[in-house]
Amino acid sequence: MIQIPRGTQDILPKDSYKWQFIEERLNEIAKNYNYKEIRTPAFESTELFVRGVGGSTDIVNKEMYTFQDKGDRSLTLKPEGTAPVVRSYIENKMQHDVVQPTKVYYMAPMFRYERKQKGRYRQFVQFGIEAIGVEDPLIDVEVISMLMHIYKSFGLKDLKLYINSIGDQHSRAAYNEALVNHFKPSIDEFCSDCQTRIDTNPMRILDCKKDRDHELIKTAPRMYDYLNEESKQYFEEVKANLDAIGIGYEVDYNLVRGLDYYTHTAFEVMSDAEGFGAITTLCGGGRYNGLLEMLDGPHETGIGFALSIERLLLALEAENIEIPEPEGIDLYICTLDAQATEKASHLIHTLRTKGISCDIDYKRRKLKAQMKDADRKGAAYTIVLGEEELSTGNVELKHMETGESKTVQLDELETLLEEK
Ligand code: ATP
Ligand code: MG
Repeated sequence: MIQIPRGTQDILPKDSYKWQFIEERLNEIAKNYNYKEIRTPAFESTELFVRGVGGSTDIVNKEMYTFQDKGDRSLTLKPEGTAPVVRSYIENKMQHDVVQPTKVYYMAPMFRYERKQKGRYRQFVQFGIEAIGVEDPLIDVEVISMLMHIYKSFGLKDLKLYINSIGDQHSRAAYNEALVNHFKPSIDEFCSDCQTRIDTNPMRILDCKKDRDHELIKTAPRMYDYLNEESKQYFEEVKANLDAIGIGYEVDYNLVRGLDYYTHTAFEVMSDAEGFGAITTLCGGGRYNGLLEMLDGPHETGIGFALSIERLLLALEAENIEIPEPEGIDLYICTLDAQATEKASHLIHTLRTKGISCDIDYKRRKLKAQMKDADRKGAAYTIVLGEEELSTGNVELKHMETGESKTVQLDELETLLEEK
């Protein structure tokens, strides 16, 4: 038997309503904040991620699904959404669009070759937004507030928002030097990844999952102390405006995010809910002022976040929040013989084209089994069609919840149901 690839999942018909509910809500909220959808291909040139995400990240080093196509091009299934959006922005010269800034969102499967565990898949769906073309603490606050609005709109309460500033490139240079001085003498006590990071991207040592409890991580110099005046002021304005709209947060000086192109504001949302697995990060995001130019684009800056629907579902589960089950069908037609089944199959065709959802039994089961089927399909109304009904044209329209029924004419069924 052929099995589903490791780290992937089927969203079964009994559960897909949850996904649809979430997707609809996300589309709605995006509209509220005036973000428009952008759809980019499922795969891109490998080089886009190597340059745009960065050679020192886990994504590029370990997690990419890379392949050669028949034309010998190196392509990669997209592991994240920001680099593709920025590629499209540059390619379509969106800096010249009449509507500014560019505010877009995406909702698409991402692919990463990761060790399977709860909340970690090899294919997962990310919802993310990007605001490109403006550098102002107020847009950073808009992005963060939209993120918190999303989670709260589903009723989640046990959430923690962490923010930090990783400063501009100048601040980072000084900080990286301080980190190298701090870690270098004892770097052989750290994992092999960190021993590479000290040369390629020392800040990422702070983000290491293996060495997170090492004493030197706790005593590491704080980015905040290395922020220049401009970066400090930017950060203060972000915080002040989050305060002004009542969004609670905690500053986490070790929050650096895994990707190389981030500057200034970085943030993460974690679930505090009991029963949430080991992985509690729901979302990550931040400002990327260097990315567009790194990809040969214009001198524009951006900010965004990405969350996965899989982890959102886990958070809902951990807080015992249920997604409302969709309503069933409007009408189920039970039939007593072959002739009635044929008539019913024509009738549902007409009713469906009028927007009435309905179904019949094609398995030619007994009436009792059909009634059970109607119930399982959540039918609001049922009728029974047999010899008598066909000859008189009268049927009993039964309301399933109250059990009440009344005699109606077959040809008024459509108008009646439309009214209800
Ligand atoms: P992590 O530390 O959990 O590996 P990350 O830093 O790799 O996260 P990002 O690249 O920032 O994550 O992706 C943004 C969000 O996407 C994460 O906060 C998480 O909600 C989700 N996510 C990342 N990887 C996966 C995965 N393999 N399966 C499901 N969701 C994921
Ligand atoms: Mg990861």
